[in-house]
Amino acid sequence: MLDYIIVGQGLAGSVLALELIEKGKKVQVIDNSHHLSSSNIAGGLVHPMSFKRTILSWNAELLSNYSITYYQKKEKELNSSFFEPLTFLRLFGSIEEQNTWFAKQSIEPFDQVLFDFDDDLSAFDVKNKMGLGKVNWSYRLHVSVFLNAVKNVLNEVGAIIEEQFDYNDLDLSNEGVLYKGIKAGGVIFCEGHQYIHNPYLNYLPENLTKGEILRIKVKNLPSYALSKNCFVLPLGDEEYILGATYDWGNKDYKKTEEAREELLEKFENISDGEVQVLEQRVGIRPTTIDRKPILGTHPVLSTVHVFNGLGSKGVQLAPYYAKRMAEFLLQDEILEKEINITRFTKKYFKG
Ligand SMILES: Cc1cc2nc3c(=O)[nH]c(=O)nc-3n(C[C@H](O)[C@H](O)[C@H](O)COP(=O)(O)OP(=O)(O)OC[C@H]3O[C@@H](n4cnc5c(N)ncnc54)[C@H](O)[C@@H]3O)c2cc1C
Repeated sequence: MLDYIIVGQGLAGSVLALELIEKGKKVQVIDNSHHLSSSNIAGGLVHPMSFKRTILSWNAELLSNYSITYYQKKEKELNSSFFEPLTFLRLFGSIEEQNTWFAKQSIEPFDQVLFDFDDDLSAFDVKNKMGLGKVNWSYRLHVSVFLNAVKNVLNEVGAIIEEQFDYNDLDLSNEGVLYKGIKAGGVIFCEGHQYIHNPYLNYLPENLTKGEILRIKVKNLPSYALSKNCFVLPLGDEEYILGATYDWGNKDYKKTEEAREELLEKFENISDGEVQVLEQRVGIRPTTIDRKPILGTHPVLSTVHVFNGLGSKGVQLAPYYAKRMAEFLLQDEILEKEINITRFTKKYFKG
């Protein structure tokens, strides 16, 4: 008998599978070849800031440090290259933002994050009239490369099946679960936004966010990541990812003209350079109503577990919270209230 069936091999399922295998557990991952996966769309940007108010994002110090060490370690263990430091520049939108930035530079923990950037950018088409600063702890995860490296590890031990998980074929008891002849101690659902089709978890309040990005070609931009109302991520060869839109109204997978226009308009805050759009992509982020991940066990089904809700910062959140999920499952550690699925238990009983 296996320990766990894991449904989904996006960032959540991948990192959790590695964590459980490392702890000596036997897992079987089932993934429908990343069909409609958000991880495959993600730019993979990791940074600790919430720029609107020049503050650190939720738990940023802990999550940045943990995730950076994690991916660097995994590169060695998986013998693959998918994580790289980024020079990430914030172009100030106003004098107030510039003042706030400079004032915070000497205050902990901002003194480790907000830096000056003195390189001369005048040869590039960058609009930086109000000045700019460099954000430390900024990296890029090449998400698809990472997911493939994990898939290879799972393949080596016969621990991945590529197919659609059919909820009708799952038998549950207090002792374990049975799925198409596979017996396990429990099932962990890591389906990203597709949890809405899961009959055991669709009671969770839904607050998904559709996002679109463009792959563009622009001459005369530096090979740095840039942020101002949107972000630009260098891919090499004058290509960049331009992202991303946040649409709480639509949950479809249609690429829209509105999103394309919005992104190109926002890009004008960064540069006047002529843009050629090479590709437009769409994904749905597994965002939650309180912007926190969802970990734990179903309120009444003791063998049904969930690791989801990584929202718009899955790269940074997945490693630390996969560790917490494993500690919860294997060592009975109590999960923090703010990330625990129990915060939605009332909703389950209200139906
Ligand atoms: C446009 C956009 C840009 C983004 N940019 C960034 C970024 O720069 N940095 C960052 O940190 N985050 C970013 N994100 C967010 C990031 O993508 C998510 O936080 C993260 O990928 C969520 O991972 P997940 O594993 O929970 O979900 P997913 O990636 O959706 O993975 C779920 C997996 O489960 C599989 N699955 C679902 N249901 C079933 C089923 N019934 N049977 C079998 N398989 C199933 C899916 O195919 C998929 O492979 C972005 C998101 C979008 C949409």
